[in-house]
Amino acid sequence: MSRAVGFVSLGCPKALVDSERILTQLRLEGYDIAPDYQGAGLVVVNTCGFIDSAKAESLAAIGEALEENGKVIVTGCMGVESEEILRQYPDVLAVTGPQQYEAVMRAVHAHLPPESEPQPHLDLVPPQGIKLTPRHYAYLKISEGCNHSCSFCIIPDLRGKLVSRPLGEVMGEAERLVQSGVRELLVISQDTSAYGVDAGYPLSFWGGRPVKTRFQELCQTLAELDVWVRLHYVYPYPHVDHIIPLMAEERILPYLDIPFQHASPQVLKAMRRPAHAENVLKRLENWRAQCPELAIRSTFIVGFPGETEADFQLLLDWLKEARLDRVGCFTYSPVEGAAANDLPGQVPEAVKQERWERFMAVQQQISQEKLRQRVGRVEPILIDEIAEQGVIGRSRYDAPEIDGVVHVPEGEGLQPGDLVELMIVDSDEYDLVASPDFGDDW
Ligand code: SF4
Repeated sequence: MSRAVGFVSLGCPKALVDSERILTQLRLEGYDIAPDYQGAGLVVVNTCGFIDSAKAESLAAIGEALEENGKVIVTGCMGVESEEILRQYPDVLAVTGPQQYEAVMRAVHAHLPPESEPQPHLDLVPPQGIKLTPRHYAYLKISEGCNHSCSFCIIPDLRGKLVSRPLGEVMGEAERLVQSGVRELLVISQDTSAYGVDAGYPLSFWGGRPVKTRFQELCQTLAELDVWVRLHYVYPYPHVDHIIPLMAEERILPYLDIPFQHASPQVLKAMRRPAHAENVLKRLENWRAQCPELAIRSTFIVGFPGETEADFQLLLDWLKEARLDRVGCFTYSPVEGAAANDLPGQVPEAVKQERWERFMAVQQQISQEKLRQRVGRVEPILIDEIAEQGVIGRSRYDAPEIDGVVHVPEGEGLQPGDLVELMIVDSDEYDLVASPDFGDDW
């Protein structure tokens, strides 16, 4: 029987990190990773169960793997709904939940036994482990779980309470990634600014010195690695103020991904969000005064139960004032098991859609204006890929997959991972065009 394992990875960056850990363990134990269903002894499907469309995609992926291969182990967020999975697909070999690496490995051992004398196959695994992202950037997961209880979210049920990794362990992983050629670290968690709070900010060691497992120290020590460090899922707590000087000094990227979700106090209250919109505008103003280059990315939900036209208008006004750089917006969709499902005042789909369109029109104009102001500047651009339509990169203000890109039509000779100074020569609503030709004035 083939000792190769097929792997299907769905879902968010956090699920991707779980996939990377399982793949690394499989390689360490000498399993091959099969490039297709036919060559695999079995297939692991890492699922996403966050919203209904993600669940449907996960179920379809399980069905396809069963049809093509026949031996399937399911893991990931949808794994907590094992009954639903087994009802639809009784032939699935095993179902495990998120972060249950050991349980996945036990299921693999049971159905595709390892070599009789297991040998450590360190030679098969690069020191930084197996990465599913391109070689030049990597996600760095600093904690699991979440201590909040937002009414639209089931992450705390799926992944449990916040558990932060010791700073020394996180830094060891970050250092190995940088040594292997990673030029950009994307810090992820459910609540990055709460890093360490679960354990009372315990002391850890890195580089032979004691360091606290805490958000500020995390940013300071990552800054020492001299690569792009991008912070995701930060809440606008007062202590975030302390890291703005690091951004102003360009020691970490002047980029904050803050999931505001809404601006109306009533809606935020119904969402049970950890941060309130009051004072946030002031805080943004203060941060921008200290670090004019700061780019802020956020996500919002429109059509949340109980959202009135007045609430929505308040959100639009807030958005116009906040002038965020990058924004994602979703219409509210119920998540099975979430408290928000029982809230009164569910908003009709047509109204949700109409609000989404109005929201996006406002943000599109802000984005267009902001990008236009960057034409003529010379900026460092990290090259991501050489696509059919040309070279594509990103500026410091763009995270991979979720933000805009920089097209480099005259980018002959550039390679993924190159960090180059280019002149921004054109812009549209979401993307930029850059050129290595700085014109006669330079
Ligand atoms: S902060 Fe809220 S939305 Fe984010 S993971 Fe925690 S409970 Fe879910």
